[in-house]
Amino acid sequence: MLTDPSSGTACVIVINCGSSSLKFAVLPVEGENTLIKGLAERLGGPEAVLKIERNGEDIRIPMPGATHRDALQEAVGRMSGLRPLGIGHRMVHGGEEFTGSAVICDDMMAAVERCSSLAPLHNPANLVGVRTARELFPELPQVAVFDTAFHQSIPPKAYLYAIPRSYYEELKVRRYGFHGTSHHYVSLETARLLGKPADQTSLITMHLGNGCSACAIKNGRSMDSTMGLTPSEGLMMGTRSGDVDPALHQFLQDQTGMRLSEITTMLNSKSGLLGLSGLSNDMRTLSEAARGGHELARLAIEVFCYRLAKSVYGLMAALDSLDALVFTGGIGENSAEVRALTAAHFKIAGLMLDENKNASHGRDDGGVISSPESRIPCMVVPTNEELMIARETLRLIS
Ligand code: AMP
Repeated sequence: MLTDPSSGTACVIVINCGSSSLKFAVLPVEGENTLIKGLAERLGGPEAVLKIERNGEDIRIPMPGATHRDALQEAVGRMSGLRPLGIGHRMVHGGEEFTGSAVICDDMMAAVERCSSLAPLHNPANLVGVRTARELFPELPQVAVFDTAFHQSIPPKAYLYAIPRSYYEELKVRRYGFHGTSHHYVSLETARLLGKPADQTSLITMHLGNGCSACAIKNGRSMDSTMGLTPSEGLMMGTRSGDVDPALHQFLQDQTGMRLSEITTMLNSKSGLLGLSGLSNDMRTLSEAARGGHELARLAIEVFCYRLAKSVYGLMAALDSLDALVFTGGIGENSAEVRALTAAHFKIAGLMLDENKNASHGRDDGGVISSPESRIPCMVVPTNEELMIARETLRLIS
């Protein structure tokens, strides 16, 4: 048992478990400010390390050879004065099995395992986090919050690929969409800022971080996403190409002799901003380099913004009206340059940014960065996936 169960600040632990990493955050039941957060990296290896941030203090604990369990146990040892009511887990793929968050039990874990073929890198790692937390806290209720669940409202005309139907029926090959927790959270926050009920608000949200996706949301429900069967489809990202010609794989194999797995690695890990610039996957680095005259960095940013704008136009097909175009994620929240370059492609749609509001990321204007004359309102709304997972956890356990 971690702390005295009868005293301390009531809170929820949020866990995001990768194959060799474990990210966690502790959020209070009352209020929104994270109490502790941390990251254990390189687990299982000699350089395993746990980094914890609490009360503005950073602690770094080398843990050579540590497992996920060791790291979580160590982290929990630092949670004095806290009284966890439940644990929320980020889960990547819920397939068609999960249309919302779910309380974790044995049957539910078996269903997640059935979805693992759709996310072989992510789901098994997420399940390691669940098993570890259940072992350490058998008395605490645990909840899974899926990246895909928010998108289960996407209709068949948007989720079907135009390939023989048997692939969908037999293997569940279809578009799922990801970053659902972020798009959902941002849609609720945007509705709040607009003073409208979420179920009467229609938006296009753009989550631009290391991974990037955009989502069309009609009356609070996801109608389409740029991501597909996997998080590789759609927008250009830090190291991912996004959409390419489906014949590219065959062409590259014929011309270079590359194996399919090598082509997949190239498209996922060596492409996007990194591949086009030859410099970095990090937008900050590229912006600085572009300002210093690095032409390929400039071009990579231009391609990023153009392809984003083109995809957003495509998502408009899913909507009857648009209350706001919303930027979020590390790039979306912080790069006035990316927002301006993207918005410049929407002249035909009557989108006009206010330069000053954009420069201050809409912070003094309730998130709004467009000018009053703009036909499409445009906003910056910071995402908070941990908070959304904590809220979902509380909702399900109470
Ligand atoms: P995320 O995955 O949401 O943490 O976002 C990471 C991305 O946000 C990286 O490409 C960062 O370079 C980018 N980013 C963070 N801060 C800034 C900034 N001030 N200007 C431009 N890009 C930024």
